[in-house]
Amino acid sequence: MAILYRQCQSCGNYFEVSDPSDVEEYCSTICKTEYVRCINCGNYFDKPEDFIEGDFICSAECGKKYKHTSNSGM
Ligand SMILES: [Zn+2]
Ligand SMILES: [Zn+2]
Repeated sequence: MAILYRQCQSCGNYFEVSDPSDVEEYCSTICKTEYVRCINCGNYFDKPEDFIEGDFICSAECGKKYKHTSNSGM
């Protein structure tokens, strides 16, 4: 059985996936719970305590840019 690697959605490191059907996207539970990625600039940030699953935008500036880019594509 081939060893699979997947890129962590949080820290960007590659980690081993033992089960191909496993949909795990994070290398560790720490990455899963502690960080979120800004959908505009792609940087990682500490997850805000009040953050609910979904798109994360790190700043008002990124929010403006992101809206601008997504609107122009529609
Ligand atoms: Zn990670
Ligand atoms: Zn950002």
